[in-house]
Amino acid sequence: MSKTILVYAETRDGKLRQVALETLGAARLIAGDGDSIRILVAGSNITEAVSALKPYGGEIIYTVEHDDLEHYNPDAYMAAIEAVLGVAKPDAVLFGHTAIGRDLAPLVAASMDAGQISDVTAIENNSGEAVFTRPLYAGKAFEKRVFVNGPWVVTVRPNNIPAAEAVEGVDTSIEDVAFPAPSLRSVIKDVVRKTTGKIDLSEAKIVVSGGRGVKSAEGFKPLEELAELLGGAVGASRGACDAGYCDYALQIGQTGKVVTPEIYIACGISGAIQHLAGMSQSRVIIAINKDPEAPIFKVADYGIVGDLFDIVPLLTQEFRKV
Ligand code: FAD
Repeated sequence: MSKTILVYAETRDGKLRQVALETLGAARLIAGDGDSIRILVAGSNITEAVSALKPYGGEIIYTVEHDDLEHYNPDAYMAAIEAVLGVAKPDAVLFGHTAIGRDLAPLVAASMDAGQISDVTAIENNSGEAVFTRPLYAGKAFEKRVFVNGPWVVTVRPNNIPAAEAVEGVDTSIEDVAFPAPSLRSVIKDVVRKTTGKIDLSEAKIVVSGGRGVKSAEGFKPLEELAELLGGAVGASRGACDAGYCDYALQIGQTGKVVTPEIYIACGISGAIQHLAGMSQSRVIIAINKDPEAPIFKVADYGIVGDLFDIVPLLTQEFRKV
């Protein structure tokens, strides 16, 4: 029987996030012949995001636009999604495994009486049956899961599933869905942003991360310089955050952000299990540590034993030549 798959296309400040295209890529991996992929965009100013999405196809893009959707608010966003669920009647809803996706997905699963598989890092289509791979025990093991009954809700980890590619000659229709304007239990009055770099840490292709070995806020400067040169983002261990060397927004690990960049450069990080939980799925891990016995070397693809204050500037110097 054919399915309708609804993709929640996440935006930020009116722009489409990379994870939205990865979520659409996940829908394409799941979809079989005759299945319909539809997309939902909600926000207060979504014209640019919808135009950016159009070349990527999907049968219908549902839009819900309202001032109450300017900032993320679960009451408002759930009302928008439920309005679209009523129209689209999907068999599956897919989200990015982001802060917003992790908040919305269980609410949607409860509302649809659906099963949920979270934090998916790979999808195989096994003769029409979607098999979802997800990490367990902070990345120490993986499980492969299938749904035996619908409907489904799935969240996909950013930077793991290939982003959907644009499709030539697509004919995607746009349907505006009225926002039901629910009464909100709380509203955001103001957002005070911390400047944590130009590139979103959870979507960065290269992350240069510092630990307690960086020794001070000043010690992060060479890491910032290297990250900027490589077009990457700066991350940190909890050790570095707890010591006050950087903001907690940079923390990677079990109680921080989960990142899966193409290159993760760990500088002065010992490699505690709680840190590995947030970065061990990175494609290539480079560790710089002066202790040759540091556990980070067990997960590293390349290890440099030495002082980060010698090595990081040397790397920056060499990359500048390329
Ligand atoms: P350390 O373990 O102190 O390591 C510093 C490293 O720097 C050492 O290996 C040292 O050899 C090296 N070094 C020192 N100077 C230099 C130099 N000049 N050049 C090169 N190397 C140098 N941690 C996280 O990171 N993320 C989490 O989300 C997280 N969640 C946690 C949740 C719980 C419930 C608990 C209990 C802990 C959690 N932790 C988390 C903390 C974690 O257990 C470790 O304490 C923390 O990751 C250690 O940070 P670190 O590697 O920077 O510091």
